Amino acid sequence: MSMLPKDRSSTTSSKSATAKTSYPPMETPVQFVKGVGPRLGAVLSSREIRTVRELLTFFPRSYEDRSTLVTVSKLQEGVAASIALQVISSRLIPIRKFGRNMLQVRAQDATGSVGLKWFHVPRGMEGRFKTGVHFIATGTPKIFQGGFEINHPEINWGKSADASGPAETAASSENVGRVVPVYTELEGVPTRTFRKILWEAIQKYIGQVPEDLPEELLKKHGLPAMGKAIRYIHFPESKDFPETSADFSIEKLIQFQTPAHSRLVYEEFFKFEYLVLRQKLKMEKQAAPQIGLNGGREAVQNLMKAMPFQLTGDQKKTVAEVLDDLAKPHPMNRLVQGDVGSGKTAVALLTAGCSIAEGGQVALMAPTEILAEQHYQNCLKLFGTQVRCELLQGKSTAAERAALLPRLAAGEPMLLIGTHALLEDPVIFKNLNLVMIDEQHRFGVEQRRTLRKKGANPDPKNPGKWVLPHILVLTATPIPRTLALTAYGDLSVSSIKEMPPGRTPIITRVVRGEARKEATFKIKEQLSQGRQAYFIYPLVKESEAEGFTELKAASVEAERLQKEIFPEFKVGLLHGQMKADEKAKVMADFKTGKVQILVSTTVVEVGVDVPNATIMVIEHSERFGLSQLHQLRGRVGRGTHQSYCFLLAPLRGGELTNQRLEVLEETSDGFKIAEADLEIRGPGEFLGTRQAGGLPFRLANLVRDREWLIKARDDAQDLLQFDPDLTAPEHSRLRAYFERDGKTQFERLRTS
Ligand code: ADP
Ligand code: MG
Repeated sequence: MSMLPKDRSSTTSSKSATAKTSYPPMETPVQFVKGVGPRLGAVLSSREIRTVRELLTFFPRSYEDRSTLVTVSKLQEGVAASIALQVISSRLIPIRKFGRNMLQVRAQDATGSVGLKWFHVPRGMEGRFKTGVHFIATGTPKIFQGGFEINHPEINWGKSADASGPAETAASSENVGRVVPVYTELEGVPTRTFRKILWEAIQKYIGQVPEDLPEELLKKHGLPAMGKAIRYIHFPESKDFPETSADFSIEKLIQFQTPAHSRLVYEEFFKFEYLVLRQKLKMEKQAAPQIGLNGGREAVQNLMKAMPFQLTGDQKKTVAEVLDDLAKPHPMNRLVQGDVGSGKTAVALLTAGCSIAEGGQVALMAPTEILAEQHYQNCLKLFGTQVRCELLQGKSTAAERAALLPRLAAGEPMLLIGTHALLEDPVIFKNLNLVMIDEQHRFGVEQRRTLRKKGANPDPKNPGKWVLPHILVLTATPIPRTLALTAYGDLSVSSIKEMPPGRTPIITRVVRGEARKEATFKIKEQLSQGRQAYFIYPLVKESEAEGFTELKAASVEAERLQKEIFPEFKVGLLHGQMKADEKAKVMADFKTGKVQILVSTTVVEVGVDVPNATIMVIEHSERFGLSQLHQLRGRVGRGTHQSYCFLLAPLRGGELTNQRLEVLEETSDGFKIAEADLEIRGPGEFLGTRQAGGLPFRLANLVRDREWLIKARDDAQDLLQFDPDLTAPEHSRLRAYFERDGKTQFERLRTS
């Protein structure tokens, strides 16, 4: 922190002056909060608690009920309690084995005595336990040698606040005699310290917390003012909400279900939804080429008739939605979600035909070469020469590029399928009016924008403005509704829930311990009948992640399976660190059946369509997210034969692991699985971690608070209709907020 003076004494003298003169109250650097100072200030700043504002919104992760003190006679083993005590005696006892001392204290109240013990003695602690001194101990008692003993209790010096005595000896009230907040320990800063500095910050600054939300909305939902809500969240007191004292229960607090918590949750959602919807409106106002009105739609109808199969109802609906969007003079921004194998790619390829028929160019970008290649093959299979289609990959030769790129730049109508190679500078389109991105969460926002830019052209009718291409993104990880409203709120969504006909549901089993033998037996039986199997492992080499050495590495395991378990079959290995041509060779051998067992890391997650493969074995399945497991499972069950998925897991998984994996035994509905996953693992599963980290929610939880999300969204929608630019006086605070920092938050999350 450059702002921090090096010398402590100079800080002290300059601090009040600086704090008062140059900062709005909420932007006051955290070091000026009483009890913080430069050292702690620097530590907090390193964790993004830089200002009073950020300190006040560093919320407790839980609460402890210390509202009533317990007497020694009422202590119960294993039940945390606070007791007002007086020291009888204290001594340091050397522990020879460790070469240091432990501290043992005896203390009493009117009803009896307890022992307190520290195996690590906090500095300066032992000297303070003088006989007769008052303090309050908080901790969990256990029975030891016939009496109660507490190890490492929290100590608050002084008499209890409700005991008689001069005020200055009363134990500080942020720590006892109330429900106290519990904070996440950051950089070794204990919850106690947070309690103290938040107590101070609230005394001093709470009156100055600005109110961003219009009063009308707070009234509508019965939510408290911001200042009041923040104070309550840190130091709940029933007097803050006399009208709703029923909500003052430790359970509600711990679940973040008080009006104060809801207020913060609602505000976070509301601000966010406003920005997302605004972005959507903005997109809807931009210009895009209208496609389909000059023969494109008919071309799609003809292609559909010529396809080797009938589209499912959901596919037809999706095609119709896409064609409607394409015909509008504004850019489409649509997400197609559906399980692996539900036929998303088929839909994408088909709609590409609409643009090409009218002389346009279309790009389809896939995250891996395997996938790009497969889409290309698929296109040939489905449409033959009716849709002109080219492939560009990282491995494409200079000669191939030299043959292709000039045609592209000259504006030849075509569908160009490729990997990240499409993003390279020499790849210039003349007439790119439809951009399609497969497995869109595998790409960064920047990459998606780069591709889109290749289709942007100056607007002849509107100097200084652009005509943008239409965008269609595909994902096989269905996005839970709450996430669709937040992270993808600026997209329209088509869902393909119905699978193409003729697929038998996959039999899924969680396999533990001895059951492995049975699974192996079943696998051999299938292989002998000519079927094929995937074995998936989380990591490539034993050393890849420290501390995870127990994970079976794909390469080691491939060897073992070949030698020890399946000597009569051919085992192949595929992982992310192999060269492209090596990968292609193994894949080809698996496709043609030369290799019966494909051992792989998660590379196969996307792509790979081998209908003869009927077995999916996933080792260490407890390490994967449910949606990812579901996607992997989707690699089998693509042909006419019964398929199986074996989820190998440790004999004793945690409670959570067991429940999680069971979901996959019970359902093959990707949407249900996605919801369960969101509940268990949070949004990181669905967005890249960078994007998930970009969700600006400190308190709001997409699962727990989904009702508030819906309310916030509706309100934001109304506001956008009624006062889109927030010019009404009652919205000036809100506008100030967005101008200050709303935009940067949003930039990190934009999907387009
Ligand atoms: P996704 O991209 O959703 O994983 P694909 O479009 O790749 O699915 O389709 C998976 C397989 O099913 C492909 O071989 C494709 O040709 C085929 N397919 C797609 N739609 C249908 C359908 N309606 N009927 C029969 N087969 C289909
Ligand atoms: Mg696909």
